This record gives sequence, C-alpha cells and structure tokens, in this order.
Amino acid sequence: MIEAGRSRNIAFFGGTFDPVHNGHLSIGKKLVELFDLDRFFFLPAFHAPHKPDSKPTSGYHRFAMLTLATDDEPKISVSTLELDHARSRYSFDTLTELMTIYPQDRVFFVMGADSWMDIRTWHRWEEVLLLTDHIVVSRPGYAISFDHVSDAVRERIVDVRGGKGPIATRNTPTIYFTDAVHFDISATDIREDIRDDAVLDRTDDVPDVVAKYIEKYELYR
Ligand code: ATP
Repeated sequence: MIEAGRSRNIAFFGGTFDPVHNGHLSIGKKLVELFDLDRFFFLPAFHAPHKPDSKPTSGYHRFAMLTLATDDEPKISVSTLELDHARSRYSFDTLTELMTIYPQDRVFFVMGADSWMDIRTWHRWEEVLLLTDHIVVSRPGYAISFDHVSDAVRERIVDVRGGKGPIATRNTPTIYFTDAVHFDISATDIREDIRDDAVLDRTDDVPDVVAKYIEKYELYR
C-alpha cells in the first residue's frame, strides 16, 4: 500500500517489447527489489524514433503480451502513454510529460547497456540524461563505457555493478549502473527463431502466456 502524500519511486522502462521477453521481465522484478520501487511501468513505444527502419508489430499485440506477462506482479504495470500518441515520440517529450504527471515522485528511467551506448543518437540526449534519475542495466555482449557522454552527465554516474543487495539511492538525480540482471536474450533473436521454425519452442525466453499468445495470433511468421 502506498501512503498518501509520500514521495514514491516510480520507474519507466521504454522499449519496443516486440515481444516482451524474460530479460525485460527479470529487469522489472529485480529493479523493484533493488531500488525499493513502488511501481515499475513498461512503456511500449509506438515506434522508436531512433529505429526508423524497423516496423514493429501492432501496439495492441505488444501491449496485450506485456499485460499478460505482468498480470501476477502487483508492482509491475504497462503504461499506454506512448501508444496513446499513436506516432513516434521522443523520450525527451515523454519524460518531460512524466515529470509533470508525477511532480511529487521520484521518476527513474530504465534502459539496457545497448541503449546507453547508443544514447547520443537520441533527440536531446543530454537533457534526457539530466532530467531525472536513470538506471542502466548491463546486457551480455555489450561493454559499457562512459567516454561518449559529457562531463555533466559523467558527474551523475554511480556505478553499483558488482554490488549485492539493495541500492542506497541518493537525493540528487543520478544515473545508476547495475549488473544485477544477466540475461542473454533479445527480441530480434526470438522473432528470427519463430520465423525460421514456424513453431515457438522457446518458452525459456518468454513466459508461457506470451508463447501461447504468439501462437494464437500467428505473430512473427
Ligand atoms: P530488439 O532485439 O528487437 O532490439 P530488445 O530485446 O533489445 O529488442 P527492446 O524492446 O528493443 O528489446 O528493448 C527495450 C529495452 O530493454 C532497451 O533499453 C534494451 O537495452 C533493454 N534490453 C532488452 N533486452 C535486454 C537484456 N537481455 N538485458 C538488458 N537489457 C535489455
């Protein structure tokens, strides 16, 4: 139960989630625990502006798979904020809107190591990084470096990789790096496997309800 008037810790995890997989889900579960989050929202993009050549599956399907996958997790929900806009939207605009929706709360923006390494392709990337708290999660196959960002951004970094247990958050906006989740999996690989085999037998990679949904609606064939 969230106490009225208390500042909450709320995280938003943006992505395409085409489909949501067990890597995404373990990030949600682990970060709720580590950062004492009151809520963790998956924030599916209508269309990621920094991936102009990709054609994601309908937002309805991606949203449905996310809600099925998070149904048993009381603190984990799915936000329709970006899908509602029905067009490609910059994270800068979404984050600015979130700051006005949750003025009393602490808003964390979550991304994987590959997004961190590509961050300079994002519209107004430095402002995005300075606007609020961020959590960067390591990802197998992606080395993390800090050379590509500005001094102002680097000053905000707290590297808690290798640490065990809950993370003591600071009172000022911070960019946390954690390696608490280690899942070598990607939505691209899952889509390619389904296309190749025409049968989804990768239930290690997605929850059973998502595997059934993919079969039923014949996605990624
Ligand atoms: P694709 O292969 O289609 O690019 P993806 O598996 O990377 O998909 P996205 O929906 O693009 O999934 O990713 C959303 C966010 O999740 C991104 O910030 C990405 O870095 C992060 N992410 C995805 N998979 C992992 C993983 N296995 N470990 C850590 N972060 C991940």
